[in-house]
Amino acid sequence: MCIFCKVAKKEIPAKIVLEDDDLVAFHDINPVAPIHVLVIPKQHITGIGDVSAEHALVLGKLLVAARRVAEDAGLLQSGFRVVINHGQHAGQTVHHVHVHVLGGRLLAWPPG
Ligand code: 5GP
Repeated sequence: MCIFCKVAKKEIPAKIVLEDDDLVAFHDINPVAPIHVLVIPKQHITGIGDVSAEHALVLGKLLVAARRVAEDAGLLQSGFRVVINHGQHAGQTVHHVHVHVLGGRLLAWPPG
């Protein structure tokens, strides 16, 4: 079972900030910003490059949850970034789709 499926099933610990029937949001173990939360579907989806129309609802829920995470962290006014990496060139290391919610500092653009 993949590591984020284990987080979703509470088989490994995580600092969960939001959860419902479809998704879990938790602090990244290696944060790159003062706020760095990951939002994942409970359903295993390998990456954003692997989705189709059947995933539209859960993907929409991930983005709504990302906005809620940002609001709860006090980032709506200062701003925040959501990122989904897919594949080698994007640096995807965990092959279970996840939305990074990043904020709390000025974020450079374009990303490296
Ligand atoms: P990716 O590079 O695949 O877009 O992002 C994967 C993220 O998952 C990384 O930021 C990494 O720090 C985080 N991560 C990897 N393993 C764990 C874990 O076991 N627990 C938590 N909370 N984060 C993890």
